[in-house]
Amino acid sequence: MKVNPKRIESDINEINNHNSTPGHGISRLTFTEEYMGAMNYIFKELEKIGAQITIMRGGNIKARLEGSVKDAPSVMIGSHIDSVFQGGMFDGVVGTVTSLEVLRIICEKNIPHKNPIDFVIFAEEDGSRFSSVLLGSRIWAGKVKDEDLPNIIDKDGISYFEALNKSGLIPNDKSILDGKKIKAMIEPHIEQSLVLESKGLSIGIVETIAGIKQLEVVIEGVSNHAGATPMNLRNDALCGAAEIILNVERLASDNGTSVATVGLLEVNPGKNNIIPGRVRFTLDIRDKEDVILNEVTERILNSINPICKNRGLTYTIKQVSYTKPVLLSRRVVEVIEKAAKNQDINTLKMVSGAVHDSSVIAELTDTGMIFVPSKKGRSHCPEEHSDLKDIEIAANILLEAVIELSK
Ligand SMILES: [Zn+2]
Repeated sequence: MKVNPKRIESDINEINNHNSTPGHGISRLTFTEEYMGAMNYIFKELEKIGAQITIMRGGNIKARLEGSVKDAPSVMIGSHIDSVFQGGMFDGVVGTVTSLEVLRIICEKNIPHKNPIDFVIFAEEDGSRFSSVLLGSRIWAGKVKDEDLPNIIDKDGISYFEALNKSGLIPNDKSILDGKKIKAMIEPHIEQSLVLESKGLSIGIVETIAGIKQLEVVIEGVSNHAGATPMNLRNDALCGAAEIILNVERLASDNGTSVATVGLLEVNPGKNNIIPGRVRFTLDIRDKEDVILNEVTERILNSINPICKNRGLTYTIKQVSYTKPVLLSRRVVEVIEKAAKNQDINTLKMVSGAVHDSSVIAELTDTGMIFVPSKKGRSHCPEEHSDLKDIEIAANILLEAVIELSK
């Protein structure tokens, strides 16, 4: 039993025909016209196989193939179809189209399954419209409080629920996702890094999703005349920040597993002839182990004080977010591994440095992820590419794993 790669290719193209920035990458923000265009295409495909479509809490989608045992917990597969602004064709789409094709094959070939199979599409995964990642799955899982929902707005002041209502995706099931009703979840996804390509592998099996700490640091010095202030009488906030940032790189490199990034730096007043008096920068620190994540964060933060003291600077540190690392299910990892072995595919067990809806679902039930390589590791950009051959391999492994988990 194998998937049909031609249909997968056609699904990828059909979904990506719905794009608000043709010629400049793919932009398909949640609940927009483009998003609904892609969604309606998928709905039509699901109707062809008679899958039962339900709009769930928060505008997440569930399409079910009933199993032979009534009320058995479901095996869930799927991903997301929203994109970042001017992103690529494959993020989220790979998991969506492989899962859709698996659903088709199970239906068309009448493959027996005891558990229901739920194909899902999570809303607002990338956080590009409402500035909050994994928003749809977190609403579905009850992680976002009802009273917070009216405050979730896009850049034009449109709230999540206004946008949802306008899209026509009116939820007919507003219940909070119950982990007891899901036996297992598998999300295929692009790797968004270079590891698989560098090893010449087609498939990665995710064991852990890295934890993330995001912080904001503000360094205050003294703005002064760039010509009239001697070097020994300066309190240059940018020079202090530069020293701190190089320390971030060194301290994260030291343990061999952590990664840390300063992605945004704001220099004030930002003039060519004024000594910078204030610098604000972000810190993004990740590791697969919570203890190490906390350790490396502490080491980085502890390094700030002596540098500032030495330079006569003051500072403030604010934690913006903290997501603990998520361990995926050993059982699901084994099922995926066995399916790959049966199909003579070499795999690599790996850590996902990026978060996914699976991070949310893993707190509720046994969850696994299948990674396909990203060309040159590029993602969230128009150059994002994954080979159809690798996507087909992932779909065939997903098919076997779903059959195994639902029999
Ligand atoms: Zn994604």
